[in-house]
Amino acid sequence: MNTVILGAGESGLGAALLAQKHGHKVLVSDRGQIAPPFLEELEQHGIPYEQGQHTRERIFAADEVIKSPGIPDTVPLIVELQEAGIPVISEIEFAGRYNRGGYVIGITGSNGKTTTTRLAFQLMKAAGFHAEMGGNVGKSFARCLYEQQHEYYVLELSSFQLDGIAAFRPDISMILNISPDHLDRYEYKMEHYIRAKYRIAMNQQPGDKLLYKADDENIMSQWAGHDIKAECIPLRADMLEGDGFAINGHRFDLQKTRLRGTHNYMNALFAVKAALLAGADPGKVQQGLEGFQPVAHRMEVLGKVKGVEYINDSKATNVDAVYYALGAMQRPVVWIAGGQDKGNDYEPLLPLVREKVRVLIAMGLDNDKLKAAFGAAVEELREAKSAEEAVAHAAELAREGETVLLSPACASFDLFKNYEQRGALFSAAVRALEK
Ligand code: ADP
Repeated sequence: MNTVILGAGESGLGAALLAQKHGHKVLVSDRGQIAPPFLEELEQHGIPYEQGQHTRERIFAADEVIKSPGIPDTVPLIVELQEAGIPVISEIEFAGRYNRGGYVIGITGSNGKTTTTRLAFQLMKAAGFHAEMGGNVGKSFARCLYEQQHEYYVLELSSFQLDGIAAFRPDISMILNISPDHLDRYEYKMEHYIRAKYRIAMNQQPGDKLLYKADDENIMSQWAGHDIKAECIPLRADMLEGDGFAINGHRFDLQKTRLRGTHNYMNALFAVKAALLAGADPGKVQQGLEGFQPVAHRMEVLGKVKGVEYINDSKATNVDAVYYALGAMQRPVVWIAGGQDKGNDYEPLLPLVREKVRVLIAMGLDNDKLKAAFGAAVEELREAKSAEEAVAHAAELAREGETVLLSPACASFDLFKNYEQRGALFSAAVRALEK
């Protein structure tokens, strides 16, 4: 089997290692420069690769191509491969073939995937299961399987990863929520993006489970259009009762956890339900909830400087995530937002911004859209071209008792390498204020 892997990131490396282990003839091809740790790994394992180019003859000699989720289906190379009848699949699809009976919990949604994946994994471990976590967070699924077969896999799945599946079938799938995101990759059509999310359930069979947010308009808008064979388990916001919820007569208390905000309570509801379906003991699940550490860059409270609270929500790369972030704010906000626009519609944020945001600091190369949307809704608007500059403006303008919130609603790629770097530079600038 001649297997070509396009893109040498974490998913590409995982696929290469797994393919090589199972006797494939492998080539990893990356049009850009391969990051040093991955390059080292390729060398170490003697995996053939090329970088800075795609050599057509070598790629078109493939029996199958595994494509990084970062490469759109519309680029000429992918279109031509498909025209040539060469199957192009995602690393998730490829990895799934080598899963020997491991029970798969697959998690998708527009927001909350990483939090829910980590949380479900933590609950499974607390329950004493031999579980592993991966997919779009941490290790690729292929790398997980290359290293060791586990009894349970908790996988975060992005819509791009789901676009490339054919037979991949989770035992439990989750659609946490759907709100506009990545529309640039879906011809700016919400229906296409929603359809991609539903792919998580397309191969499920009776006996498998689909957990979904039944009060989510976007999810429900396509409910009738999909032939779902799995047992459908609706979850909804009105199942939350104060700081907790009950499942099968057992109450789960979130007050004793570090999870905050309704959005995180919903994430917890999904994770707990999945763990219980997988057979976890409720008492151990509660202990797992209590031991959960919030994930960095997601509503991460950094602390107070001169009476002003600073929160790093750099991972809020779409409008809906910001909606929940602003919704959770209880004091006047100095809001740092902006970056690379993904086809955002800011309208849903306007009432919240009017109510809660006093100052907007627009941090992006091109801030025009943000300025047009919110210029009239805030008392003051400033622009910044770096995290340091944004924090300097914030520190100058914020009054005692207010909150400075980095929750950008945009991708970070105009000014930063990724959202982690954006969050880390923001946090560092805040720490520097303390001195
Ligand atoms: P994902 O992996 O889907 O991007 P994360 O857990 O990394 O999700 O969270 C991304 C952003 O979305 C953060 O700003 C977080 O506060 C917010 N968020 C988390 N869960 C939800 C949810 N259920 N609904 C809306 N926003 C959420």
